[in-house]
Amino acid sequence: MANIIAIVGRPNVGKSTLFNRLTESRKAIVDDFSGVTRDRHYGSAEWTDKQFTVIDTGGYVANSEDVFEAAIREQVVIAIEEATVLLFMVDVTTGITDLDDEIAQLLRRSKKPVFIVVNKVDNTQLQNEAAVFYSFGLGEIHPISSMTGSGTGDLLDEVIKHFEDLPEEENALPKLTIVGRPNVGKSSLINALIGKERNIVTPIAGTTRDSIHIHYNQFGHEFMFIDTAGLRKKTKVKENIEFYSVMRTIKAIEEADVVVLMIDAMDGLESQDVNIFHLAEKNKKGIVILVNKWDLVEKNSKTVNVFEDQIRQKLQPFTDVPIIFTSVVNKQRIFQAIEAALEVFKNRGKKVPTSKLNDVMLPIIEKYPPPALKGKYIKIKYITQINGTSPMFAFFCNLPQYIKEPYKRFIENKLRENFDFSGVPIQIYFRQK
Ligand code: GDP
Ligand code: GDP
Repeated sequence: MANIIAIVGRPNVGKSTLFNRLTESRKAIVDDFSGVTRDRHYGSAEWTDKQFTVIDTGGYVANSEDVFEAAIREQVVIAIEEATVLLFMVDVTTGITDLDDEIAQLLRRSKKPVFIVVNKVDNTQLQNEAAVFYSFGLGEIHPISSMTGSGTGDLLDEVIKHFEDLPEEENALPKLTIVGRPNVGKSSLINALIGKERNIVTPIAGTTRDSIHIHYNQFGHEFMFIDTAGLRKKTKVKENIEFYSVMRTIKAIEEADVVVLMIDAMDGLESQDVNIFHLAEKNKKGIVILVNKWDLVEKNSKTVNVFEDQIRQKLQPFTDVPIIFTSVVNKQRIFQAIEAALEVFKNRGKKVPTSKLNDVMLPIIEKYPPPALKGKYIKIKYITQINGTSPMFAFFCNLPQYIKEPYKRFIENKLRENFDFSGVPIQIYFRQK
């Protein structure tokens, strides 16, 4: 199930500071690389062994005074519907403001768990002052300091208790979702594939009421579509259309096995698309990219290659992803797109036998061993694939801590060259033996 933590609250209470703290990872380089950190308000995070998505709702409100409060109110309503857990952030140094009161009033109607997070409790004196927030009548308060991180661990311990676990093989069918910015052609593709049957939607037990699963079973292919495009919420505030669509997208990605990221050929891969791509990658989902509206592009013999190169450049370092050029209006390559997605699904579940893995990889490693560090040689003795929903490999060696990122990347490339993992993020671990 999709586990989404939404941070709501008025401006300046410290939402984005907490967001950054929760989503910051050692892999932040990936985002810096593509230069997309700027407009990123949602991201993947982990606490103990739980993986989840955090969304900073404040990032979606424009600063103009007139729309501002209406936008915040509406966001809270959307967040109540879409998130798993809501963190209502307030500021101990200002106490309760009118806007805080309004937000609290909306949250009181939420059936989802709400945590009052009292921020900027940087020292023990301030701890006492946090008590005023009990007056919201929303239960426990959780004093934290987003700046120093104190209290955030205790908070997360409580929050993750409310996560829904993925039901055991809720459905053995591949789950695909089509995501992308508005107007790229997502609905058109689903309509082209499913036609009128789209309205016949079977609600599946264990899935959230508002995520639509469509059973596809035609032309020898059977899978589930997790549809985001079909549902469009009417909102009064322009900025919230994006906020809403981001919430739906995150949810669909978490529920899917393979994410079909559709872009508009006329626009190319934009930073929002790259954000979605990274979210799918960090969630270890399979990925296929569709460049749609290909009919609108003036082409010569090199156009496809130029397009592909430009896209892969922006996907670095995970570039081993199928890219398909479609025209939904002309029904061009739409079945190929689905076949590519199902192929990626297969790759994601692929298990390479240990003997084969060692037969192929050990000679490569012998020829190109990890560089010696501090006069010590690193010896990789054997390799095995770890059981999991996506491919993970353990390389057993004497000094795992001495193996650096470039060598890890080299190993990943060799795995990809020798075994087809197209469209699938793979995890590589070096372990002590
Ligand atoms: P947002 O508008 O709710 O996203 O708030 P920001 O994260 O931008 O923070 C607003 C201001 O509060 C910034 O100047 C932060 O540095 C500051 N701030 C955030 N968290 C803390 C905290 O735990 N303690 C203190 N003293 N300041 C904080
Ligand atoms: P969504 O917002 O991503 O669901 O996009 P829609 O499916 O609603 O499509 C937006 C617009 O793009 C509609 O007018 C479609 O007819 C048009 N469209 C979709 N696919 C194609 C395509 O392959 N080529 C062209 N030229 N237009 C397309």
